Amino acid sequence: MDAFFLKLSGEEPESAELRLALKRLLNRIAKRKDGARLFCNRKAAQCLNGLKLPDALLLETLPEADFPAEVAFFAPPAFLYAVRRDNGELCSEQLQLNPDWALSDFHIHTDMAYCNVDMNDADALAMGRLAGLKSMAFSEHSGQLYLSPDDYWHDRYNPEGLSGCVLAPRIQEYLKKLKKLPDDGFFRKSFELDLDRHGKAVVDCGDFQISEIRMAAIHQVMTPTDSLAAQKDFLFRAEQALGRGLDILAHPFRVFEWDHLPRPVELYAPLARMLRSGNCAAELNFHSNTPDPAFYRICLEEGVKIATGSDAHTLVEIGELAFHLKFLKELGVSDLTSNAIFRESDLKNRDRSRNLC
Ligand SMILES: [Zn+2]
Ligand SMILES: [Zn+2]
Repeated sequence: MDAFFLKLSGEEPESAELRLALKRLLNRIAKRKDGARLFCNRKAAQCLNGLKLPDALLLETLPEADFPAEVAFFAPPAFLYAVRRDNGELCSEQLQLNPDWALSDFHIHTDMAYCNVDMNDADALAMGRLAGLKSMAFSEHSGQLYLSPDDYWHDRYNPEGLSGCVLAPRIQEYLKKLKKLPDDGFFRKSFELDLDRHGKAVVDCGDFQISEIRMAAIHQVMTPTDSLAAQKDFLFRAEQALGRGLDILAHPFRVFEWDHLPRPVELYAPLARMLRSGNCAAELNFHSNTPDPAFYRICLEEGVKIATGSDAHTLVEIGELAFHLKFLKELGVSDLTSNAIFRESDLKNRDRSRNLC
């Protein structure tokens, strides 16, 4: 069982930023399947008081003199802590991404998502900055902004988009919210566009004008019990949507996993080619999703960029790209300034001539 060391200086103010950072660290620890021990000095233990600790965590207060000498204080901007692995190796880790990597999180939900946990705009932006992101995008499910939860979760937009639905619009509220946020270039206005069965975005064209990124997701296929028919439907929707001009295809094959269908490996090369000709990035996303390295390898061979998205539904997930970085490294992208990664700068000079909705 790995042991974490968390040391806070007596002078560290108990700020909102520190609280977010501690929540973030606890979330990182909670992701471990085998549990963990967390050694804290007195100040750190005090600050953790009142925060929800992961179930499998053993917390111990340790006198500061007993900490390994290498353990630095947990403080902004990097928020350093240490981990001792089972083999005795002690390494220092940081919560913050290296700003030189200029990584963005293009997929963040808001408090308007029916499935959000604890989102609010101010803390979300603070968490994004704390994470060391270059930029972040609020990208709400478009369908959820027009439909009731019941209609949305029953895919009632699927046959004919919004035209076949009873609307319960919250879109103006969303647009207002985005307009109110500080326009300092750190965050982007966006949607996670739902697609109907024709591959058309479920959004009103006028409302979509505000969006600075074109990101869409295939959230369902027509025949989830028939693997081949599902594959055909998936490719059709992807082809239609990509033909209308997308920047990012969110969690490309997740729908197969969610529908308990086999991995559609036959589609990897055709989709990668479609993405290439549509100049669209493939999102790497671990939100209830197990991306297949084989698909991303083909994307890299085809010159398709990989976009980083947390698909955060809760604050602690914003900008948490630890799995992304490990995955990219295993794919051979160890230089995180590589052009293989889709970035903020890739949003310039995009072709916006085609109508998505
Ligand atoms: Zn999605
Ligand atoms: Zn999402």
